[in-house]
Amino acid sequence: MPVIAQQLQGVHQRIAAAAREAGREPESIQLLAVSKGQNLQSMRAAYQAGARRFGESYLQEALSKQEALADLTDIEWHFLGPAQSNKTRALAAHFHWLHSLDRLKIAQRLSEQRPSTLPPLNVCLQVNIDAEPSKSGVSPDTLEPLARAVDAMPGLRLRGLMAIPARSASAAHTHSAFGALRQTLIELRSLGLKGPLDTLSMGMSGDLEAAVAEGATCVRIGTDIFGPRIAAQPS
Ligand SMILES: *Cc1c(COP(=O)(O)O)cnc(C)c1O
Repeated sequence: MPVIAQQLQGVHQRIAAAAREAGREPESIQLLAVSKGQNLQSMRAAYQAGARRFGESYLQEALSKQEALADLTDIEWHFLGPAQSNKTRALAAHFHWLHSLDRLKIAQRLSEQRPSTLPPLNVCLQVNIDAEPSKSGVSPDTLEPLARAVDAMPGLRLRGLMAIPARSASAAHTHSAFGALRQTLIELRSLGLKGPLDTLSMGMSGDLEAAVAEGATCVRIGTDIFGPRIAAQPS
């Protein structure tokens, strides 16, 4: 079996084991293959091995890969990088999901610019769960007004929350940060919004098990599927 297929299978096994441990169905957790900084050949290998959801963080890199992989028509494209004003038109036109929405103005532009031929863009609100000053993401106490506004936008579909815990944190801290995100989603659900709020996007190669234990429905895995990244080009 090719190495990427093996590694992909290994990640699926880790998800299944962590799910069993937590008394959850493995099928309730989706695997997003994070392909930023990976080449087309590796992406085709992952596709051959069954991956259909791909996550990218740099717009120009993502758009050129979409063009080169246009023959793989059933890929679902997820954007994870910062969503800035000068990118909204391309994000609205070329992606199925955005995990990193954290500003009202960006949400408005995305909703207006979403082509009417496409279903609404699936969005997660990124929460700055550790209140890190340099990190993107909305703070938990200003989340509610943003969620209400996004939920009312015709071009967007509010799917849930995303977070990246502080890199330096201990395993125990990471666990509790994921738990806090789950709790925040439960509170949002009680507002009676129309969006499904069915998604907790949390967990990367190093903390997949903790995320599944705390209720992740989408884990975002790069390194453990593809190996180390080549330096990515900011765009
Ligand atoms: C790069 C990235 C990942 C994947 O990280 P790995 O540690 O390689 O699994 C997940 N989520 C986001 C937001 C990323 O930028």
